[in-house]
Amino acid sequence: MKELAAFRNPNLAKQVTNRLHELAPSHTVKFCHVCGTHEWTVTHFGLRSLLPETIEVIAGPGCPVCVLPAAEIDEAIKLSLEGITITTFGDVLRVPGSNMSLLKAKAEGGDIRVVYGVSDAVRLAKAEPEKEFVFFAIGFETTSPTTANEVLNKPPGNLSFLVCHRLIPPAMELLLGIGDLHIDGFIAPGHVSTIIGLKPYEIFPSAYHMPVVVAGFEPLDLLFGIDMLLGQMRDGVPKLENEYSRVVKGEGNIKALDLLQRVFDVVDGRWRGLGSLPSSAFALKKEFEEWDAREKHGVRIESGRDIAPGCQCHLVMIGKIKPSECSLFNDSCTPDSPKGACMVSTEGTCRIWAKHYTKQ
Ligand code: SF4
Repeated sequence: MKELAAFRNPNLAKQVTNRLHELAPSHTVKFCHVCGTHEWTVTHFGLRSLLPETIEVIAGPGCPVCVLPAAEIDEAIKLSLEGITITTFGDVLRVPGSNMSLLKAKAEGGDIRVVYGVSDAVRLAKAEPEKEFVFFAIGFETTSPTTANEVLNKPPGNLSFLVCHRLIPPAMELLLGIGDLHIDGFIAPGHVSTIIGLKPYEIFPSAYHMPVVVAGFEPLDLLFGIDMLLGQMRDGVPKLENEYSRVVKGEGNIKALDLLQRVFDVVDGRWRGLGSLPSSAFALKKEFEEWDAREKHGVRIESGRDIAPGCQCHLVMIGKIKPSECSLFNDSCTPDSPKGACMVSTEGTCRIWAKHYTKQ
């Protein structure tokens, strides 16, 4: 607690921001995070307004709900309308599929239930053995070990898993391939790193000469992270640093990684509006196919309408534009009436800006 209190010290914040202004580069540099919680901290606490004008912080595809392609929502909707009970996280219900959301499917008679985690889905399936249940498993490396754990626990025969988990490092690599984005450094997500450790990021400084700092979620964590990235740039030595060492260990969470390895294969995955990214998703291994909802219920939808007319989520998600640059932002697209996935989740950049943005 004492350590956390230090991360909320306003005097320290002033010292770091003063230092950032002293070190400010003469040309604009762009640091990218890939995490909805980082965007929340940056926007909620107005951190962009504290930074020198030449330091820009952009948000990459770090919202697990936003990156779900419409086709996967369509799969869950199809199952629900065929009489299968879908269990999933509350944020997912309003994410647009190609023609409707799960919320609309629920209004049309689909049995869709909000759960806090996969263990709730197991409990529900055990309580109603006459019904068929599917857990719509979304999220990054942080939530996928919980799915893996339940799969290994031999879940009830009336429960299967629609696995839609995604991996963060391949999305970071995608951003580096976008020629005109010109990222100067990554702020890597603390919670994902708690699971995967530091090794998956080594490729960025070694192969791409790209500075990376794993950062926590207090405002000062991010200011320190930016300071560390600037230091690497000043020294001309890109490397991988861990600002969040009070939580993230180099080797990650060995037990969670073991669960992931035993249950999932790493496969190519589609991301909303971004197409298919190599080795960016988890799929159940063949030995667990009896719990694979796609195999069990014969549902597999390959493509869908990811982006509604006028919506620019695909550009917001790669940090190419700010939410306020979308003409629908806070106009016909609001948190109460979202047009795109980025306005739905509390981790979506558009929703965060709509709720917290003043002028930064
Ligand atoms: S403001 Fe709405 S319509 Fe515009 S990019 Fe964001 S989610 Fe899409």
